[in-house]
Amino acid sequence: MQKVVIVTGASRGIGAATALLLAKEGYGVCVNYRQRQDQAQALVAQIQAQGGQAMACQADVTQEADVARLFECTARQLGPVTHLVNNAGILFTQTPFEGISLARFSQVLSTHVLGCFLCCRQALGQLPRGGAIVNVSSAAARTGAPFEYIDYAAAKGAMDSLTKGLALEVAERGIRVNGVRPGFIHTQMHADGGEPDRVARLSPQIPLKRGGSPEEVANAIAWLLSDQASFVTGSILDIAGGK
Ligand code: NDP
Repeated sequence: MQKVVIVTGASRGIGAATALLLAKEGYGVCVNYRQRQDQAQALVAQIQAQGGQAMACQADVTQEADVARLFECTARQLGPVTHLVNNAGILFTQTPFEGISLARFSQVLSTHVLGCFLCCRQALGQLPRGGAIVNVSSAAARTGAPFEYIDYAAAKGAMDSLTKGLALEVAERGIRVNGVRPGFIHTQMHADGGEPDRVARLSPQIPLKRGGSPEEVANAIAWLLSDQASFVTGSILDIAGGK
């Protein structure tokens, strides 16, 4: 079976590292992005230069029609989708709870929870027995992220619940659903959150005394998707340096 994976939000950061690794492992890879077309296309060119199979597809995961088109285009160009990584995410600036606007709360919930729901639902129409999904959550789901991003933490908590429930619903179809909960990872997302040096600042609080790399999260995602994790479903793996 040719493995075909959609990685949502793969124009940079953890998604890009995951797309690159999965292509090296022989997957046909759809690099989904929302707005950074140049970065997505550069990643596709890099994968192809290394002999891998990849395509880029713009789609906003919060839009049902976009998600349907994402899966159709991928199936047409690479073959039926066998694996999915729900990685697309956004982070706004650190704000105590009462400062979080309705518009922000709604966008954060839509991107993480609605996006994950729409992509999982669409994937289940294509995923074969042996297929797998990994949802990218966050350590914030455990802490609640008070005074910073309660909206983001709540969205990731909802994703974890979706991961566990869906894993049980589709287990008898031979489809596995798992999650990863990264801690502080060196990506551009923290600049969007208003503090580019956040990971370095918080490193002393991490038992391993450093932030993680996108590649370290990608390794865990690739393992959970692989047959090496064939008896693992409904699990959410912490990748947080012990924090
Ligand atoms: P980045 O900000 O580097 O990348 C986010 C990606 O998501 C981009 O490719 C962006 O696309 C895409 N994206 C955002 N909104 C949408 C949308 N509506 N539809 C499709 N794509 C979208 O983030 P990271 O790599 O740091 O994070 C990746 C995931 O890991 C996120 O879910 C995040 O919450 C999670 N995470 C990150 C941690 C960290 O410390 N970095 C810690 C814990 C979890 P484009 O650029 O084209 O807009």
